[in-house]
Amino acid sequence: MNAQKALQALRAGYNRFVDNNQNHKSKSLLFSQQFAEAQHPKAVIVSCSDSRVPPELIFDAGFGELFTIRTAGNVVSDYDLASIEYAVVNLEVRLIIIMGHSSCGAICAAVEDSPSDSVHLTCLKEAIQPVIKEGMSIDEVAIAHTEDIARSLTKRSHTLESIEDLVITSCFYRLDTGEMSWGLR
Ligand SMILES: [Zn+2]
Repeated sequence: MNAQKALQALRAGYNRFVDNNQNHKSKSLLFSQQFAEAQHPKAVIVSCSDSRVPPELIFDAGFGELFTIRTAGNVVSDYDLASIEYAVVNLEVRLIIIMGHSSCGAICAAVEDSPSDSVHLTCLKEAIQPVIKEGMSIDEVAIAHTEDIARSLTKRSHTLESIEDLVITSCFYRLDTGEMSWGLR
């Protein structure tokens, strides 16, 4: 599936979610069984591990639709990048979406920068902190970080850079309203 069609499908799924008109069949065991031999996901979604932003629910996606990577603060490690490359090269996915969200705990941790944080959390904060500028709100940092991750992927991966029809974009989900801003970059 090309990137534009995939994006249309995701937007349609998000609209079903907002309208409370979800497709429940696509979440059934019977539906899942058609993918027992192979998967052809429409998109890679990189989102936060936060329990309030599950991409499959927000995009009303069923089995086989989304190749999902979730980490606190939607940061992308080398392991995560390998997962993305696998989806693009082996599963021929042509759309990658980095999804940030409001009131993100990882972004808060990066902004507050407590010296008592663990070694691992410090490492995660360091992946976010370069985008922080004086006076930015938590959500402004989250948006800048999400854009930065989206921009950085092809710089970090020659594999991704070499795929001509690959589209990488970003979006930002507001927990309080359910509003989604698209195509930040
Ligand atoms: Zn978060």
